[in-house]
Amino acid sequence: MTLASNLTHIRSRIDAAIDRAGRMPGSVELLPVSKRHPAVAVREAMALGLTTFGENYVQEGAAKAAEVPEARFHLIGPLQRNKAKAALQAFHVIQSLDRPELATRLRHLAEELQVVRPVWIQVDLWGEETKMGGCPEEGLSALLAALGGDSRLPLQGFMAIPPPELPTAFQDLADLRERWQDRLGQPLRLSMGMSDDLEAAIQAGSDQIRIGTALFGLRIP
Ligand SMILES: *Cc1c(COP(=O)(O)O)cnc(C)c1O
Repeated sequence: MTLASNLTHIRSRIDAAIDRAGRMPGSVELLPVSKRHPAVAVREAMALGLTTFGENYVQEGAAKAAEVPEARFHLIGPLQRNKAKAALQAFHVIQSLDRPELATRLRHLAEELQVVRPVWIQVDLWGEETKMGGCPEEGLSALLAALGGDSRLPLQGFMAIPPPELPTAFQDLADLRERWQDRLGQPLRLSMGMSDDLEAAIQAGSDQIRIGTALFGLRIP
């Protein structure tokens, strides 16, 4: 399968899911995930009109950003404090903000670097405590307080990687979004759904799906 035909296929899956859910055409953003695929794959995707890519690892993403400076990158993998500066330099958006200490660090660095980087809070509602990271709902107030409405780190919404075997997960996230939109009085987007479950995520209200395998093929291990 070529990238072009994979993209056509993914777009038709997205459009069909939007249609079934009775949502507005074009209301779901596709974030291609280029992790463990070479810079040439990003270039090929850009030739097809894609402009923004998800990457999991700071070092790999930074290398690709240097190779393909026209592309924009979102960090969707765990971020350690000691990589925070490199992440702000290479990535346009941080989707894996999940703890107050990291928010404090990012604010300090964004000020120092004089950059604006939209952030998404990665949530974990299922007590996974996995290496995936994610803030539990009880931790959101403290995290938001640490973020302090900083205009250099505008909050976009919630990102999550729910356990695949849990059918209610996407609805739980949609409910979480409703609660916190009311509480904060601002719109919040939801980044949820990947290659295997984008239909269910769109049905539940996802605004952004993150697609790796179904677009770029199997990753180099
Ligand atoms: C790898 C990854 C994806 C893409 O997963 P696929 O199943 O290959 O589509 C999406 N989101 C995150 C956070 C990932 O790490």
